[in-house]
Amino acid sequence: MERREVVVIGAGPGGSAAARAAALAGVVPLLVERDPTPGATSACGGFAGHALRRKLDLPDDVVEREITRTVLTIDGQPFVYGGRKPHYVSFRRSRFDTYLAQRAVKAGAELATSTRATVLDASARRLGLKDLRTGAEREVEADIVIFADGPATLAASAFGIGHKPGPRTRNAIFCELEGAYGDGQTADIVLNTAYTKSYFWLFPKRDCVWVGVGGSLTGGGPPLNERLSAFIEGHDALRGRAVRHQGAGLVPCDVAAEFVCDGAMVVGDAAGLVNPMTGGGIAFALVSGEIAGRVAAEAVRARRADGAFLRRYPRRFRRTPHHLWLAAMAWWRRRLDRLPPAEQPLAYARMLRRYLSFFHHAHVLADLVLGRREA
Ligand SMILES: Cc1cc2nc3c(=O)[nH]c(=O)nc-3n(C[C@H](O)[C@H](O)[C@H](O)COP(=O)(O)OP(=O)(O)OC[C@H]3O[C@@H](n4cnc5c(N)ncnc54)[C@H](O)[C@@H]3O)c2cc1C
Repeated sequence: MERREVVVIGAGPGGSAAARAAALAGVVPLLVERDPTPGATSACGGFAGHALRRKLDLPDDVVEREITRTVLTIDGQPFVYGGRKPHYVSFRRSRFDTYLAQRAVKAGAELATSTRATVLDASARRLGLKDLRTGAEREVEADIVIFADGPATLAASAFGIGHKPGPRTRNAIFCELEGAYGDGQTADIVLNTAYTKSYFWLFPKRDCVWVGVGGSLTGGGPPLNERLSAFIEGHDALRGRAVRHQGAGLVPCDVAAEFVCDGAMVVGDAAGLVNPMTGGGIAFALVSGEIAGRVAAEAVRARRADGAFLRRYPRRFRRTPHHLWLAAMAWWRRRLDRLPPAEQPLAYARMLRRYLSFFHHAHVLADLVLGRREA
């Protein structure tokens, strides 16, 4: 039986951040990823605030586009946010996740790709690891397991913590269409108030455009794939382009009730840490992963793997601005959900305008304060 102090399941942003933080704090975590390369099967649009580029020191080959403008179009009426400075970045998740996993390895983590984890015995934290290339299986016992395995986390059934798909879980589908899009610096959000709580995103990449749409799993209206096809057919700039890649994913839109128990923690999507208004979750995965990784290392040093000790992680997360932001968005979302269904699409559109306007003005203010604004 192989023994490990810390095993992290999933090398998305949450898992790699956790593994890196634990490694920097002196333990050697095992980071397990079922894909052959991290991010290879991610459905994510790879769109995030520009601050992430600076924070993670993202190199040019990871960043696909710097986005200076966002255009929100509501029932054909455009609202433009942004200017000349890049406020967002787009990237491919395969490159982004691989970059983050390599940072974790550089810090001292051990990465096992093409390896699927299962929980064999939760009370002993005994995991089964299957090498998907060779079929070889091994068992590992861990002092602490960090679940960073996305919205359908193994932690929910094995440990009773983390996100459990429910009525607030949303579905999203996407396709990548060949060829450059617009000026390459503008992201589009297109909202049609005929559909409740779903809108289209268009994120330019270097040589393609990512087009996605989200919606509730149980909501009415045509299926998401029909909406996406109709949307593409209805737009001259998209119609007829070759589809390079397509897929779907779940978006957890409610924060999990429990983040920790004896010997286990959940981070990122596995903890339901996604902005319920926009579906964005990369930043929350990074922050929660980093805190959980550090707490895991402290627990190893203190020879404590009990839930009472690990509770340091949710306590510290609650003190971050990210938690405050999530709480505000959840409050806004609940207010929206309580409105009569006929009023929800317009209320949602208004909310998105306020959200983007807030973001834009916050960026302008930050640029002014930090002296980054061009004359
Ligand atoms: C269609 C779509 C578009 C999105 N677009 C954006 C966006 O533009 N910007 C944004 O901020 N957020 C976006 N999100 C949300 C974002 O993708 C997630 O919030 C983010 O990826 C969460 O990171 P994570 O590390 O918690 O989980 P994930 O990125 O889901 O990573 C989980 C990892 O665990 C691995 N794994 C799972 N089970 C196992 C197992 N049993 N054994 C081993 N490995 C396992 C998976 O292969 C995966 O690599 C989008 C989501 C969807 C569905």
